[in-house]
Amino acid sequence: MLDYQAPPTLLAGKCILITGATAGIGRTAALTFAAHGAQLVLLGRDPLKLRQLCEEIGASGALLPRYGVLDLATASQATTRACIAALALTRLDGLLLNAGVLGTLGPLAELDEQEWQRVLQVNVSANLWLIQTCLPLLQQAPQASLLLTSSGVGKRGRAGWGSYAISKFATEGMMQVLADELAGTGVRVNAINPGATRTAMRAAAKPDEDPLTLRTPAELMPLYLYLMGQHSLGLTGQSWDAQSK
Ligand code: NDP
Repeated sequence: MLDYQAPPTLLAGKCILITGATAGIGRTAALTFAAHGAQLVLLGRDPLKLRQLCEEIGASGALLPRYGVLDLATASQATTRACIAALALTRLDGLLLNAGVLGTLGPLAELDEQEWQRVLQVNVSANLWLIQTCLPLLQQAPQASLLLTSSGVGKRGRAGWGSYAISKFATEGMMQVLADELAGTGVRVNAINPGATRTAMRAAAKPDEDPLTLRTPAELMPLYLYLMGQHSLGLTGQSWDAQSK
């Protein structure tokens, strides 16, 4: 999928919401989707970083994004609804649930209760509140795409990846349940496993690794574009590896 070539106007006319847009893969996805014509709505926890990214995208000649501030570590169903309502969206064609936290790595036997709650809240619960809130708008769109972000350790557990791995198994499950519930509707639901990628999260997980040996977020964008655009119509309920051919 890394050799998919998206037409320059692939996402023209589409409104796409991205979480975790202020760093790493989400930031690159925001710049890439905007460059392909999307009207973006960026969600993050840091208003300054959000404003700067919106200005950067606007200055590039792409459509100026809108943004909402939502800390996923404390987001509830009610505060998520209030945040999205304040944006007064009239349409939504795509939702990229990308934000995530690694948490503390280590054996399950030593997992801290608060760390467990935080990772599951950010990586799982907050995504459910966002899906519930955004679904009515996605269902009104002619061809909507909902993308969740998984991980290799969300498909095959590995020692020491603790709450992060378990949260990504839950992400895969959420994708499968939702895809089944929405089968036959205009909303397709898929998950992306970025694979080892040159970001702050990967550096935290593998401090001894040389980041220059890893793919950059930009190299993953063909799959993100493919799944957000019209060429993936009808594909749903699948888990995609961004780095496999
Ligand atoms: P980064 O740590 O670089 O970025 C994570 C993003 O999530 C940031 O924008 C961050 O916001 C946001 N975020 C974290 N906590 C919160 C919170 N409480 N509220 C709102 N936003 C929050 O990670 P990556 O870009 O590497 O990861 C993106 C996704 O890809 C994640 O879901 C991750 O699990 C997954 N992934 C990454 C891999 C990799 O090798 N990089 C491999 C497999 C999966 P802020 O900018 O404010 O810090």
